[in-house]
Amino acid sequence: MRVTIFGTGYVGLVTGACLAHSGNHVVCVDIDEDKIARLTRGEIPIYEPGLETLVHDNVEAGRLRFTTDAAAAIDHGMLQFIAVGTPPDEDGSADLKYVLKVAETIGAHMTDYRLVITKSTVPVGTSDKVREQLAQAISARGASVEFDVASNPEFLKEGAAIDDFMKPDRVVVGVDNERAADHLRALYAPFNRQHDRTMVMDIRSAELTKYAANIMLATKISLMNELSQVADRLDADIEQVRKAIGADHRIGYHFIYPGCGFGGSCFPKDVRALAHTASKIGYETEIINAVERVNNRQKTVLFDKLQAHFDGDLAGKTVALWGLAFKPNTDDMREAPACTLMEALWDAGATVRAFDPEAMDETRRIYGERDDLVLCHDAEEAATDADALVLVTEWHIFRTPDFHELARLMKQPVLVDGRNIYKPSYVAAAGFSYYGIGRSAAT
Ligand code: NAD
Repeated sequence: MRVTIFGTGYVGLVTGACLAHSGNHVVCVDIDEDKIARLTRGEIPIYEPGLETLVHDNVEAGRLRFTTDAAAAIDHGMLQFIAVGTPPDEDGSADLKYVLKVAETIGAHMTDYRLVITKSTVPVGTSDKVREQLAQAISARGASVEFDVASNPEFLKEGAAIDDFMKPDRVVVGVDNERAADHLRALYAPFNRQHDRTMVMDIRSAELTKYAANIMLATKISLMNELSQVADRLDADIEQVRKAIGADHRIGYHFIYPGCGFGGSCFPKDVRALAHTASKIGYETEIINAVERVNNRQKTVLFDKLQAHFDGDLAGKTVALWGLAFKPNTDDMREAPACTLMEALWDAGATVRAFDPEAMDETRRIYGERDDLVLCHDAEEAATDADALVLVTEWHIFRTPDFHELARLMKQPVLVDGRNIYKPSYVAAAGFSYYGIGRSAAT
């Protein structure tokens, strides 16, 4: 099929590459000229495992192209995907200006039937707005062209995006007629393993499904983080608790890891956006609001532990951070707990020595050159001469350090384990003061 994708970010680029890989002819369009220039040169602007090879292979095979020419891109695809950003507005609602701008552009240029599919995460009712925008732009030029709109929210996870797209748990398709449903069933047929995973529903339910899924996951994290705070104060070990409750099949082990709060471009903004949508229609969400409050509090937990260790005096201290991206296997630092920690440390007069396997350029882009931030080439260099080390993001390479060597390199052997990946007694045996999340009693 001929497919056009607006937005070449994490979602648009992965969608484009994966759809091209199943034999479709895909044109990816973006307004960011630099991004398109880099992609055209074969450079991948984001870090996502496997993406570089997939993009190169499909470009070489002639099935994947990049452009800033929206009119040509609209001419290309019968299927037009909108995969642009929906960042939070000041009041927490999703800002739809990029989505509606794309709808307007498509309406201004389409000359033939188009199926316009919203893949961005958008509040319930957005497809109606997309439809209105398309109709307005078409009639503004005195034309009459047929189109359908559909909602097809994306569930991929950064860091495992290609696998998630290629082997989805489900594909949600929101439509209001059979023609649109048939096109999307055909497009996704190659991604249905063993049985049909495409779930066709009405548009509003599809739009809500995406928020419901993210909020369910965010709630599990915040609940577990809240329990970890209770465990900390009761001298219990949340890790023992986690293993025991996860054994209950009704609870399960997924997404019940305590940590230093969730970040990323989706959970925080989607939690806020659904609370805002509900509030606008006169329903105050209780649990959803608490999920955000708990998360904001949890993001200060690493700083709080450092402050407690150093009796409230972090001025002049040097703190090493391992991991800056909001989770492993990505370079994305949007709303990352590492940002909250670094900013609090700087406010307290500390210096940060930091290392992340993929997010160093992004850190440099966000914070620029500053005296209290030393960007290091590896984990050991970051720890050298530090008064404390904080594991913020659980990249694989941080899993089994030589703690005796680390204790030798550091000014003071103090470790805050923001993801509970180390065995406290093992770390303590190397001379460290160890602080985990919700495990003051841990051995
Ligand atoms: P992103 O910020 O990485 O990329 C968005 C891209 O859209 C940018 O390159 C931007 O230049 C481009 N753009 C903006 N206006 C445009 C226009 N008029 N025409 C063409 N391109 C335009 O965003 P993302 O992380 O890929 O997220 C996109 C959407 O998907 C959001 O709604 C997000 O909530 C949702 N989503 C994201 C993820 C994720 O893991 N990142 C997962 C599922 C859903």
